[in-house]
Amino acid sequence: MRLQSIETFSTENVSITRVKTDTGHEGWGQISTYNSDISALVMHRQVAQWALGQDVNDRADLEALSDRVTEKEFKFPGSYVRRALGGLDTALWDLHGKLAGKSVCELLGGISRPFPVYASSMKRSEITIKDEVERLVRLRDEFGYTAFKFRIASEVGHNVDEWPGRTEEIVPAMRSAMGDDITLMVDANLGYTPEKAIEVGRWLNDHGIAHFEEPCPYWDFEQGAQVTAALKDLPIQVAGGEQDCNLSNWRRIAAIPAFDILQPDILYVGGLTRALRVANMAKAAGLPCTPHSANWGLVTIFSLHMLGAIENAGPYVEFSIEEEDYYPWQYDIYDQLPVAKDGKVQIPEGPGWGITVRPEWLEKATYQISEF
Ligand SMILES: [Mg+2]
Repeated sequence: MRLQSIETFSTENVSITRVKTDTGHEGWGQISTYNSDISALVMHRQVAQWALGQDVNDRADLEALSDRVTEKEFKFPGSYVRRALGGLDTALWDLHGKLAGKSVCELLGGISRPFPVYASSMKRSEITIKDEVERLVRLRDEFGYTAFKFRIASEVGHNVDEWPGRTEEIVPAMRSAMGDDITLMVDANLGYTPEKAIEVGRWLNDHGIAHFEEPCPYWDFEQGAQVTAALKDLPIQVAGGEQDCNLSNWRRIAAIPAFDILQPDILYVGGLTRALRVANMAKAAGLPCTPHSANWGLVTIFSLHMLGAIENAGPYVEFSIEEEDYYPWQYDIYDQLPVAKDGKVQIPEGPGWGITVRPEWLEKATYQISEF
């Protein structure tokens, strides 16, 4: 069975993919969100030529295909080629699930079942602390979430907070509103120097924060490693890795280690095949893997299937709580938009990813095809 065609249906924020084989089978996937129309161009210009006509019979073929694209495009080791590759790879996993009559989770040896999620906030400047605390408490009561992640520091903030005192106020306010039984996590989005992150990390630990994400600029692995090592004897766990798409970087991240929890984004890293390699690197280093999945595009569906199957899965799938005001583009792409119940989201039963892309959405998107 060979890859016959790759189609993309693109908007600025989402690009849906479809692959077809010479045997008449097909699968659906997605290129990573944001500048997805540019990634789709990269798909047809730089990925399709190395993928079309290749064997896609089994996982070994998918591994070989990922490597072939990466090696042939060795002069372009960055994000866009990986984002495009993610759209190809995820469509091929859907195809294989459908061929086997199984969900991708089952194909990987897992069981489609309700999986615990943590409610993930994206907001800082857009909301007051009072409103953010009230919002998360309301969601706890409505959907039964037992874990939340909210934001501290400011994005690539060089130790300057979003506004003075915000971090010092929101952490105790959230803890006191939620009580001690709720798991709280924070994301600093690269806000600190290592020295400051260590100081903040100890203070966060005193407030029972379980997970301290992206404390420092991610491109300098030693900064994350310094924070992780300094907080090693405390219960708080340092998390990160969502931005990295180069597997050699991932090998180094797992080895030093730069974090206690590795968080590849299935679509930034180049698809499920490559995300599973990262999960295996984490496993070899004795670390859990919790993919980054921050919106209701298909990345959350892909992450549910993956975490339902891997041995070193973290306890929760990241689950967005942002709605129309923040991510207007995430609606109406596919049926079966995931909903949390009792703090869990059902891993779709399949076959494949277990979702149906809506024809109305596809009709409005820009269409491109590359054929063998
Ligand atoms: Mg993050």
